[in-house]
Amino acid sequence: MKELVVATKNKGKAEEFRVMFSGYGIEVKSLLDFPEAVQDIVEDGTTFEENAIIKAEAIAAEYDIPVAADDSGLEVDALDGRPGIFSARYAGEEKNDQKNLEKVLTELKGVPAGERTARFVCAVAVARPGHKTFVKRGTCEGTIAESPRGTEGFGYDPIFIPTGSDRTMAEHSSEEKNSISHRKNAILEIEQWLQQLS
Ligand code: IMP
Repeated sequence: MKELVVATKNKGKAEEFRVMFSGYGIEVKSLLDFPEAVQDIVEDGTTFEENAIIKAEAIAAEYDIPVAADDSGLEVDALDGRPGIFSARYAGEEKNDQKNLEKVLTELKGVPAGERTARFVCAVAVARPGHKTFVKRGTCEGTIAESPRGTEGFGYDPIFIPTGSDRTMAEHSSEEKNSISHRKNAILEIEQWLQQLS
């Protein structure tokens, strides 16, 4: 069985990756299995791709193992793409999902339905000792709801309505989300590489 460490301590994300990579015969571990791993990687890239590469290469170098890392977030058109790469800490340093989504809703007050377009973006990088790192992006298009709904998922899921649905992402089951998400679409982009991993 091929093995990849997913560079995240976010349980929701780690589980989504575990399910999706298992389809390629890849067993996933996450940083939850390596509690002593580099604590604070400085993600000082200016794009999702740069930050994913920084994370993947830092952990791969430390443990000499293949590592997948993602950097993801929400881009809202009426906010000029914010929160973007600052999605995790949009409302402050403490990474509070509830405060983050409330900040987006506050900033969108009065913005009509047709102008609430947004997308989740995910860049996935795979770094392997002795190989060139590869990175690709996937997106999931949608709109921002007027108020939060649903209890599934994490982060901005309660306010994001994927295109083609009338439910927020947090009102979708994990199976439904995994079939349309930005992470899923990023993984499809790197599929060829995943199949070649040995
Ligand atoms: P990071 O990629 O771990 O830095 O996370 C970026 C931010 O985007 C976090 O605040 C997440 O909650 C948010 N985010 C990333 N993916 C998703 C998702 O699938 N649903 C909702 N929020 C997400």
